[in-house]
Amino acid sequence: MTMKSLTVMEPGRAEFLQEEKPKATGRMMLVKVKRTGICATDFSIYTGESSFVKSGQIKYPVRFGHEWSGIVEAVGEDVKDFKVGDRIVSDSGFACGECEVCKAGDYAACRNDRSVGTVNAWPGSFAEYMLVPEYHAYKLPDNVSYDEGALVEPTAVSLDAFTNFEMKPGMTVAVIGVGAIGMSAIWLAKYFGADKVIAIGLRDAKLEIAKQIGADNVVNSREVDPVEAVLKATGGKGADLVIETTGYESALVQAFKMTIHTGRISIVSFYEKDITIPMDDVVHRKITIRGAAGQYQNPGRVCEIMGKNPVKLTPIITHRLPFHECLDAFENEKEYHNTKIKVMVEFE
Ligand SMILES: [Zn+2]
Ligand SMILES: [Zn+2]
Repeated sequence: MTMKSLTVMEPGRAEFLQEEKPKATGRMMLVKVKRTGICATDFSIYTGESSFVKSGQIKYPVRFGHEWSGIVEAVGEDVKDFKVGDRIVSDSGFACGECEVCKAGDYAACRNDRSVGTVNAWPGSFAEYMLVPEYHAYKLPDNVSYDEGALVEPTAVSLDAFTNFEMKPGMTVAVIGVGAIGMSAIWLAKYFGADKVIAIGLRDAKLEIAKQIGADNVVNSREVDPVEAVLKATGGKGADLVIETTGYESALVQAFKMTIHTGRISIVSFYEKDITIPMDDVVHRKITIRGAAGQYQNPGRVCEIMGKNPVKLTPIITHRLPFHECLDAFENEKEYHNTKIKVMVEFE
């Protein structure tokens, strides 16, 4: 029994391979992949520009893909909590399940963990089938589609921007960047009860989509100074929570200028170099800065929110490709670049 996968062989070259279909044993489940979203990380693995490639943490050939949803087709003999036919998503990294901390259930502390399709790659979701350990899997609620399921991973990353932040009535959240992370942050901010959500981006078409998923105000930073726009929208005070998702130093500097006294900045992006920030703003206005990234369990929380939130996140899916044609999104990325938010790959 074989299956088709898409594997990056070397920078700039990915190939469809015919691979052995894996077998579910122990606590593993064999999952038939239904959707895989393409993310900027996937593209940087394809081109070789990823800092993880440069540091040697990603080695070629690599089967990538980490934003997925699927259905359980077979379970190993020790799987207890899932059955054939369950619709699932997972954490973005898998602990080994065998070391001392894993046996104690503290998977986040495992030193032998592998990220799905990225660092020390667990074979990822650009494949018809993949193996998933049950202790990192989450069931999709019945009213949550496979499309939404494949958006759980980026949303689980932006969810961390709200960790230890108490949303109170009347609060304003400003989100810089309207890629998938920024969009899911906008969607979550509204769900968590922000009075006003301000989306800051460069393209009107994407800002229109930001409105559909919950943004109250949109700011095109090519036309308007975003700091002035946020101050104006908040009576001169600034936003209570500013979420920076672009990875640009200039955007982060703006974040400091648009945050309210005692406000909070959550940073959900990498800058890939040392940068200069206006530290005196932090001191004067007693700003809290928090780095945010994915963590275990967040996908389960996102599944729950998706099941409850009547506002759908799916308008951020701007492109769809069948699996056998998805190489086009990598080879001809320029044609997608200006209009894409999320490119969704569909499996049979
Ligand atoms: Zn991603
Ligand atoms: Zn372990």
